[in-house]
Amino acid sequence: MLKRYNITETYTPHMEQEYEKVIGLEVHVRVKSQTKMFCSCRNAVALASEPNTNICSICSGFPWMLPQLNKEVVRLGLIGWMMMGCEVNKTSRFDRKSYYYPDLPTSFQTTQLFETIVWKGSVKTIVNWETKEFGIHHMHLENDAGKLTHAWGKTLVDFNRAGSPLMEIVTDPVFRSADDATEFLREIQKIMRAAWVSDADMDKGQMRCDVNLSIRPTWQEEFGTRTEHKNVNSFGAVSRVINAEYKRQLKIIQSWWEVDQETRWWDDDTGTSTSQRSKENAMDYRYFPEPDILPLVLEDDFIQAAKQKLVELPVERRIRYLDIHKLQEDDARLLTADYELSNYFEKLVELTKDPKKSCSYITTILLALIKESDEEKNISDLWFDVEEVAQVINLVNNDELSSTNSKAVIEELFNNGGKADDIVDAKWLRQKNDMWALEAIVDQVIEDNQTQVEQYKWWNENIFGYFVGQSMKLSKWQWNPKIFNELLKKKLG
Ligand SMILES: [Zn+2]
Repeated sequence: MLKRYNITETYTPHMEQEYEKVIGLEVHVRVKSQTKMFCSCRNAVALASEPNTNICSICSGFPWMLPQLNKEVVRLGLIGWMMMGCEVNKTSRFDRKSYYYPDLPTSFQTTQLFETIVWKGSVKTIVNWETKEFGIHHMHLENDAGKLTHAWGKTLVDFNRAGSPLMEIVTDPVFRSADDATEFLREIQKIMRAAWVSDADMDKGQMRCDVNLSIRPTWQEEFGTRTEHKNVNSFGAVSRVINAEYKRQLKIIQSWWEVDQETRWWDDDTGTSTSQRSKENAMDYRYFPEPDILPLVLEDDFIQAAKQKLVELPVERRIRYLDIHKLQEDDARLLTADYELSNYFEKLVELTKDPKKSCSYITTILLALIKESDEEKNISDLWFDVEEVAQVINLVNNDELSSTNSKAVIEELFNNGGKADDIVDAKWLRQKNDMWALEAIVDQVIEDNQTQVEQYKWWNENIFGYFVGQSMKLSKWQWNPKIFNELLKKKLG
């Protein structure tokens, strides 16, 4: 219970200095297994177009149904959780969480409460240039409900999604700002995508989030009464819920009222929330051990095989890009937002040993071309190998190709594929550095332009560029201006 605090009657912004937010999140991530959690129906990764066509007696809750746990779901879940550094429990059990709702055909959800498959864990991320690590309280598997559509004064129910596997990730109340919470969620999304556990697309309902929030005076250790907002479905909405709910609770406390423990419904269009129901306690759900599913016992080989699938954490890559490769914060964030993009960058750096140019060729040229093209391409769908982009960068670094012309080569690769070297030669873009031939050109230019040479020597050094231009012209622009520069300086004295 919040202690009474000497405050004014109306809400005043300066109070924000004295009350802090205490936020916990419950995140549901749809595991992208081929089939559902307890039956062989297709997992609704891409939602089936016709309602109730992707169902069977198990996922639509017929009385005689007998669920069978999908091994693939456990394997993918384990990979995701281990990426978050959890402890694995070799033996876990499923429980029934009983409640009635029209989208839940069984009238219970199969979940884990008493003995969950994993325990603890944490997620590291960067919040406003600061590295933070947020603790996870517990994680488990459970099945999803169906989907209700309210239309024409009726409610329609579609069970295509019912029985899809969800990983639930429950954090400790560790967040103190909307930025903390949203960066954590973005990191979860990156981890799930990197490890191929889920596409975690919030727009498609593949990742949903419940926001628990209470407030307390900054000097107080005890937590206040919390409210819950269920199924918030975008990063922006999570941020708006947190800031609006904080102000709402602060207003209540400033008016000497008490915050009710309740579930509230957020309307993102109006930016307001309304009370939905008083919060249930675990008791209300009448949890009991699931009688139809045997305890889950994980063998060492199974755990080891999942461990083999772990990849480098996206945040570790981001930190490496900032500290070792010295990339800009925006670029590091962009490259690690998509694990395939970051794999592409890694490969390019390995081939060129030039992180800065690798980054700029991806972010300013390749991604721009992808964006401009009509087709919905991904970096992994390109027609040409990463080796060709590396070759373009290497040619530029060896002064064999000008930076301006390199863009034309990448464009040609992007449109028609092929080999970088072939394109450079076919377009006459290779800058030659044959010293004998270059010297002959420079000598010719000096001989042909004696008047200008006299001018340069006696009073007008500004015409130096003229000689470089003449040399380039004589060489049909195939040579490197940098070397003409040096040669001319030497010869003109
Ligand atoms: Zn089914």
